[in-house]
Amino acid sequence: MASVRTVSSMNIHEYQAKELFDRFDVPSPRGKMAESAEAAKAIAEEIGSDLMVVKAQVHAGGRGKGTFKNGFQGGVHLTKDPADIGEIAGKMIGETLVTKQTGDEGRLVRKVMVADAVEIKHEYYLSMLMDRDTSRPVIVASVEGGMDIEEVAENRPEKIIKQLIHPLAGLQAYEVRKLTAALGFKGPAAKEFGKLLKNLYKLFVSLDCDMVEINPLVETKDGQVLALDAKFGFDDNALYRHPEVLAYRDIEEEDPREVAASEFDLSYIGLDGNIACLVNGAGLAMATMDAIKFSGGDPANFLDVGGGATKEQVVGAFNIIQSDPKVEAILINIFGGIMDCDIIANGVVAAVQETGLKLPLIVRLEGNNVAAGRETLKASGLAITGAEDLADAAKKAVASV
Ligand code: ADP
Ligand code: MG
Repeated sequence: MASVRTVSSMNIHEYQAKELFDRFDVPSPRGKMAESAEAAKAIAEEIGSDLMVVKAQVHAGGRGKGTFKNGFQGGVHLTKDPADIGEIAGKMIGETLVTKQTGDEGRLVRKVMVADAVEIKHEYYLSMLMDRDTSRPVIVASVEGGMDIEEVAENRPEKIIKQLIHPLAGLQAYEVRKLTAALGFKGPAAKEFGKLLKNLYKLFVSLDCDMVEINPLVETKDGQVLALDAKFGFDDNALYRHPEVLAYRDIEEEDPREVAASEFDLSYIGLDGNIACLVNGAGLAMATMDAIKFSGGDPANFLDVGGGATKEQVVGAFNIIQSDPKVEAILINIFGGIMDCDIIANGVVAAVQETGLKLPLIVRLEGNNVAAGRETLKASGLAITGAEDLADAAKKAVASV
């Protein structure tokens, strides 16, 4: 199995978040995941409430206001009749949901969550994340929840409450009281909110979260305080400490290019441009992307094969690049410090022989054993454009598309 290191910022589904909430005593409506209309109906019968909700499970928000490509409106549906649940789930499962966060291509829905629908008195926003400026956890909250929080932050910044937490002292009772008062919770709901906040902070720290966002957190008409939605991000450098969280990984929701890259232990981030990069070293990869931009082009990816890449990794990287339909040219930029340029050259030749070369390929090789590397490329007879230096390589790549 690929190392955890290359899993980029792992997300989980709402029904999985609910399992974590249950574990840490963060109240949320009763609910379960289903992968078919029949299973959804069975869960509805088991829960047996007067009002229930079916929620599409995808790693993207804005589901409530989303639209399915089959014309069905909304990835969050409330119904009074449990008999409807199967039908609603059937219109979601196997269909593509488009929301503000999915882009036009949308997301295929494979699972839904069937849950108790609650009567909402008010929707709040609550999140915990790591504040990069102060290196501390920060709690962000607002009475204007349930909607686009970015819009609130932009137009009504006074409605956003922030509370920095000292990482050693942890969440203090006075901080809980301050947030409770700022959000206007009173009576039993104030006590409920305080308990939820403390338990959520425990969850956040114990599981090495990057962020937990609850939008909305609600007060119900009968005074309960519940997490109705959840978005989690986990620090991938700490995932090895939480195998149960890592098991929540759903690779169907991840960029297939990034999944393939993690199998070869490559650091890869897919981007929207058309010039693919294959580079050794993160700094050099950044510089290569800058050089492409400077020459008027757009990089298709960030790809670092690492300081000691093997031939297999280069072949893997090349295959990932070539399978991306957006890519129109490939720029290989290798500075051989630890890396032997001839290994890269052999990897490129092997990959091209395997997949064929349909695109312009620009190679800049420099450093350790560069003469042998250049000789390998030349002897292969492949149509490769050589480059003097990075600027020259970027210029030639941009000119080729
Ligand atoms: P998204 O943010 O992806 O649109 P949410 O889970 O936030 O999805 O749901 C959207 C809206 O649907 C919520 O703001 C809330 O008003 C309503 N909703 C979601 N879950 C429930 C529930 N269990 N009971 C009642 N209303 C709900
Ligand atoms: Mg939401």
